[in-house]
Amino acid sequence: MYFSDVIGNKVPVERINPSFIRRSPIALDVLRLDQLHKVISGNKWFKLKCHLKEAQCRGINTLLSFGGVWSNHLHAMAAAGHLLGFKTIGIVRGEKPVNPSAMLQDAESWGMKLVYVSRSEYRQRYQPEFHRILLNQLSLSSEQVLVIPEGGSGELGVKGCEDILSAGSVVLADYDEIWMACGTGATLAGVIRSTQGAAWVRGFPVLKGVDFLNADIRQYLEPSDDRWSLELNHHCGGYGKTTPELIQFIKEFERETGVPLDPVYTGKLLLALKHKVESGDMPQPMRLLLVHTGGLQGRRGFSEWNSD
Ligand SMILES: *Cc1c(COP(=O)(O)O)cnc(C)c1O
Repeated sequence: MYFSDVIGNKVPVERINPSFIRRSPIALDVLRLDQLHKVISGNKWFKLKCHLKEAQCRGINTLLSFGGVWSNHLHAMAAAGHLLGFKTIGIVRGEKPVNPSAMLQDAESWGMKLVYVSRSEYRQRYQPEFHRILLNQLSLSSEQVLVIPEGGSGELGVKGCEDILSAGSVVLADYDEIWMACGTGATLAGVIRSTQGAAWVRGFPVLKGVDFLNADIRQYLEPSDDRWSLELNHHCGGYGKTTPELIQFIKEFERETGVPLDPVYTGKLLLALKHKVESGDMPQPMRLLLVHTGGLQGRRGFSEWNSD
C-alpha cells in the first residue's frame, strides 16, 4: 500500500492579500498543508510518514507516541493509524480529564489506546528505560512497537518534511523567503534541507526563551545549509498563550482571506508578519511563501471558537 493513495500528497498554494499588506511591496502566498486531508492536517503527516514507513519495513503494526490533551501529533497519528491499519497508543501528559478534550475523543474513536501519565513521568519521554516500563505495563514487547518521539520529530520526522514544498509543487525561484511557525524546529529543518539554499527560510518559534533551538536545528543540517534564521520575539507570551490582539487578528484574517488559522502556531506566524510590516521592517519588495502547518483541530480547545 502507498500511504499517499490514502492520505494524499498534494496541497494548494494560494495568493492572499490581507489588508495589512496592501500598501506594502510584499507578494504573499500560502502553502496550505491544512488542506492535505480532511482530518490529518498539516505538517504532522509529513513528520509521521517516514516513521510509518520504518514500521512497515520492520513488520511492526503498533505505534506509540507522546503528547498533551490537545496534541496535533497524537491526533494525526490516531487518524493515520486508523486509515492505514496501524494500532496506536497515545501516552498523554497529566491526569485523565473528567471531560476529555475533543482531540482525545477523536483519537479514541479512531481506536487509539490512551494512557495517562503524571507530568513527572512524562518528563522521561525520551528515556528508553521509561519506554520499557510503559511497554511492560501494556504487555507488549519492544519488537512489536515503534516508539515515535513526541511531535513525530527526530531524523525521520525531519526527512519527511523534505517533501513539504514539493507537495505544493513550489518553484523555489518564485520566492525570496519561506516562513513558518516552529515548535521543535524539525519541520523547519526538513524544509531548509529541501531548499538547498535557493530561498531564505525563517522560523518563528511559538515558545518563549528557546535560544537552544538554533543548535537543535543545526544538528539536522550540513554547514552549507546556512540560509535560515529564527525570530525569537513573536511567541505572544509563550506556548499556548494568547492575547486579545491575537484572537481578534485571527478572526479578522479569516474574514478577509478565507484562510483559517490556529492560535498556537499559524496565528502567531501571521501576526508576526503584520507586526513586521507595520513597524516598517519590510520595506523592500519580497515574494514570500508562508507554510500553513495546519493545527486547526486544536482551535476547539479555545473558548473563543467554542462560543460561536
Ligand atoms: C507541531 C506544529 C508545528 C511545529 O512543528 P515543529 O516541527 O515541532 O517545529 C507548527 N505548526 C503546527 C500547526 C503544528 O501542529
